[in-house]
Amino acid sequence: MNLLEHQSKALLRDFGVMTPRSVLIKNAHDLSKIKAHLFPSGYVVKAQVATGGRGKSGGVKLVDTAQEAKEAARAMLGSKLTTYQSGGNAVTIESVLVAEKFDIDHEYYLAILLNRRQGQPTMLLSRFGGMDIEEVAQKNPQALLELPIDPWRGLPSFKLRQSAISLEIPGSWIENFISLASQAAALYQTRELGLLEINPLAQTPQGFVALDAKIGLEENALFRQSANKKIYDKNLNSLGPLEKKARALGVSYVPMSGQIGCLVNGAGLAMATMDLIAGHGQQPANFLDVGGGANPEQLQGAFEILFSDKRLKAVFVNIFGGILRCDLIAQALLAANKKSPLAVPLVARLLGNRVEEARHILSRAKLNNIEIFNDLTTAVRAVCRISAQDNHHGHSRQ
Ligand code: GDP
Ligand code: MN
Repeated sequence: MNLLEHQSKALLRDFGVMTPRSVLIKNAHDLSKIKAHLFPSGYVVKAQVATGGRGKSGGVKLVDTAQEAKEAARAMLGSKLTTYQSGGNAVTIESVLVAEKFDIDHEYYLAILLNRRQGQPTMLLSRFGGMDIEEVAQKNPQALLELPIDPWRGLPSFKLRQSAISLEIPGSWIENFISLASQAAALYQTRELGLLEINPLAQTPQGFVALDAKIGLEENALFRQSANKKIYDKNLNSLGPLEKKARALGVSYVPMSGQIGCLVNGAGLAMATMDLIAGHGQQPANFLDVGGGANPEQLQGAFEILFSDKRLKAVFVNIFGGILRCDLIAQALLAANKKSPLAVPLVARLLGNRVEEARHILSRAKLNNIEIFNDLTTAVRAVCRISAQDNHHGHSRQ
């Protein structure tokens, strides 16, 4: 789970990293926190959304006065933001961070993540931080320094000093940089994070400041990281009802913007399914991935989530039964249909373990809006044909 900027910065602050002073605005009432002359150096008004690239899409505004900050924050609250990183989806801005503005001498990049190839965390550093870091990583990968972090010994300061020199950090700021980078590494390791990114890591007249931060919590470590778990649970409460239900069930749910609800087993199959659907001119509305070892309760819950999504024009079930039994899928489908009846046609491609039993169960139930196939392409064609139909029953086109 990725935290919002203000949550990420609070963690950094706990570990001694300098971040700008700020106030969080969650509703119109909170706007009164932006008092006149609150931040004499100016204001940065920032949409708190779990997607990057805000600066290029109007999600970050720099203004001079408290009045302007108030107006910018008011305009942002509740509005929608689409960035080049949000996958074509507009996200609603539920809160806004109003931070003090710093003068920036230079923008660096710092991140810590797990290098799976090396089996240890790595710190990434670049002299070319800021809004174009993706481009730097692509066109000029040698501009990214990689520092492996030994899980037992940590990151020795001589390594950070060497890096500071190749990053061309001015001599008078090197010690400041070393302590910030060490604090970031301590945070990453102590709290067992999945990701920590500071971009820009700004060199300012006051020293190094984390002007933006993104932290990803490692969900597999939550059971022994009670402070992380607290933040995680709090964020869960702000999820949509379908996402909440999926989390509680332990199935993975990815909402998207199309009209076909998909239930699959396995992430690879989900990808292939998405490609095939897109190749036939349609878009998935979501993916429910029940994995290999789902139990009947999880399967039924997954169908209930699908059946309650009001945006759907069709449901596509794509199961390759290796470990998962197709007959359990069929039973779960019927049970869910009893609880909240399916309102749109369902196309299933079932293959593998106990597929004949599954077919019997479904044909005995005599549901009229279900079609079952063995062949994937045929099934995708069928569901895409349904999704492509204009369904303006009952009212004429204006
Ligand atoms: P992102 O685009 O979503 O990554 O949002 P950021 O928080 O990184 O902000 C984007 C850009 O806004 C930064 O790269 C900075 O150039 C600029 N910015 C953010 N905070 C400040 C600040 O305090 N002072 C100045 N001068 N620029 C800022
Ligand atoms: Mn940023």
